Amino acid sequence: MARETAPGEQRVALIPQEVDGLRKAGHEVVVETGAGEGAGFPDAAYAERGAAVGTASEVMAADVTLFVRAPGSDPAMVDELVGWLRPGQVIVGLADPLGTPAAAAALAERGVTSFALELLPRITRAQAMDVLSSQATLAGYKAALLAAGRLNKILPMMTTAAGTLPPARALVIGAGVAGLQAIATCKRLGAVVAAYDVRAAAAEQAQSVGATFVDLGLETDSAETAGGYASAQSEEFLRRQREALGKVVAAQDLVITTAQVQGRRAPVIVTAEMVRAMAPGSVVVDIAAAQGGNCELSRPDEEVDVDGVTVLAPTNLPATVPAHASRLYAKNLTNFLKLLLADGEVRLDLTDPIIADTLVTHGGEVVSPRVRALLGLADLDAATDAAVDIAADVTTGEIGAGAASAAGESVVIPTRAGR
Ligand code: NAD
Repeated sequence: MARETAPGEQRVALIPQEVDGLRKAGHEVVVETGAGEGAGFPDAAYAERGAAVGTASEVMAADVTLFVRAPGSDPAMVDELVGWLRPGQVIVGLADPLGTPAAAAALAERGVTSFALELLPRITRAQAMDVLSSQATLAGYKAALLAAGRLNKILPMMTTAAGTLPPARALVIGAGVAGLQAIATCKRLGAVVAAYDVRAAAAEQAQSVGATFVDLGLETDSAETAGGYASAQSEEFLRRQREALGKVVAAQDLVITTAQVQGRRAPVIVTAEMVRAMAPGSVVVDIAAAQGGNCELSRPDEEVDVDGVTVLAPTNLPATVPAHASRLYAKNLTNFLKLLLADGEVRLDLTDPIIADTLVTHGGEVVSPRVRALLGLADLDAATDAAVDIAADVTTGEIGAGAASAAGESVVIPTRAGR
């Protein structure tokens, strides 16, 4: 398991408690020196559980290397990290393959077999592995605390001998996993909470955690994809949405924005004009900042003051609660590994949508159809008569011999522990 290299990244992919399960399953675990320090897990805690603590080269020599942020997730580090990897190596982590597809191309060229956990299908069986959800939950919670901490008011209604203070008003835009947690947290802190989302199904969920749902009266029939994500809306829809939301935003003390569309820039929903119409002392926290932001004035990881309104755009809130973020991430990851590793071998069972959807590169090719499309590469089946006969891989136990086809069979890669 690698030490994270992205600036400010305090999380770690594996926590000491998860070493037990991996060792019981027959795997050797090597942890890079200092990897868990930022999250409160010293080297000694891993060593006590039987992990070896080693150098970066020792970690990169493992058959399977685990990351929070694999090459792609930190675009600045792609070349350096890929340079550390070797052909045939398997890596698992967040890799932002839809945002930084060039990293996938570099990994393929290097002959690395890579899995991007962002591409997990949103099916019931994958919920225990869903790192996007576990990290988004923490981000939503921290966004509410951040907003409450910066507001020039308290959140709950308070009756005192000196008079009654009205409760603060909060609006959460985007009522997905992060948004629902932001609503619940603002509610627990005593605010009057409203929520808005483009997906109709979000209304009931937002209400169930204590928000009033804002109905803008806009037609959003096709707002949800089969995978449960929001579909991209037209510029005309977004314009009408901004127009209708203007008055609602102006009346809030806190606005928390979480709206995202998978594989695309986040929609701009809160304009500069809307922020200027808020009362001085109000706060906007835009947690879609890493995807470009929902507020026109957001500057990633900077604080912007507009006529007394504070706009915050944190790009990695889960890293601000690294102990719990790592705990959830590590559990998600080890659940994924239970599927990927069996009897000391890596099993690329392409009949399993969890494996097939998350596999981005293998055998020198970018194999994910979504990432291939972004790179302008032809469909793999069409592109290659040389498409690999996966059975050959199974027989030889080698990877790097060719690309996995989408046909759906199993590739078995023996790991060190299994040899
Ligand atoms: P997300 O992070 O991709 O987006 C956050 C929210 O922003 C979403 O609710 C989305 O509808 C909303 N949004 C996008 N564009 C918008 C716009 N223009 N205006 C307003 N809101 C906009 O989404 P997410 O939080 O990862 O989850 C999306 C859905 O998937 C939720 O319903 C969630 O419950 C569901 N989910 C299902 C599973 C599962 O395994 N079944 C797992 C996780 C999430």
